[in-house]
Amino acid sequence: MTNSVPRLAAALASRGVSLVYAADGSEALSYLLQRIPPGARVMNGGSATLEQIGFLDVLRGGRYAWLRPAIAAVEDRAERIRVRRQATTADWLVGGVNAITMGGEIVNVDGSGNRLAGYAFGAGKVILVAGLNKLVPDLTAAIERIRNTAAVQECRKLALHTPCAVTGRCDNDACRGPERQCGKILIIENEKIADRMTVLLVGGSSFGF
Ligand code: SF4
Repeated sequence: MTNSVPRLAAALASRGVSLVYAADGSEALSYLLQRIPPGARVMNGGSATLEQIGFLDVLRGGRYAWLRPAIAAVEDRAERIRVRRQATTADWLVGGVNAITMGGEIVNVDGSGNRLAGYAFGAGKVILVAGLNKLVPDLTAAIERIRNTAAVQECRKLALHTPCAVTGRCDNDACRGPERQCGKILIIENEKIADRMTVLLVGGSSFGF
């Protein structure tokens, strides 16, 4: 799969997105520490990969002005939504991806869309951390992966009762209501702002769903 990296790097570059390849989780963590200056205002998107490479431990350790704990501490629902909206404009947003096509399209799905808002425009700099298992041939395969692999695992992890959690396959027409995890889909096909978006591709083992 690493043979695909130069091809993917060229495809992403043509769309205004940089690709950095890290051979393993430790190299990926070193890159993040060297790239994001200490004290920076950082938000993280939900991503098992960030936990696996140790970046969440760094955030917990106080190196950065990490926005998520302040959000979790707000009990009032309306106020929490307001603070979450503010966090979409973090100076740095580091999160996962659901799929990347070999043509360089980056596909993400959220329940509420706050992560997507930051990816699309809100955040100053965006670093998207992905294992090689997120690479797919095309958009059809990306949606298939999101709906019938990632969502199944995520919904089951959260003990939800969505059709995919119950049967192992997405049933889009039957899936409605607050438990639905695929509420909003963002396909990043191009980035206009120079040096704003980077894909950090992590080799070694698979990361995240
Ligand atoms: S639309 Fe519903 S059933 Fe389909 S993958 Fe998303 S959460 Fe699961």
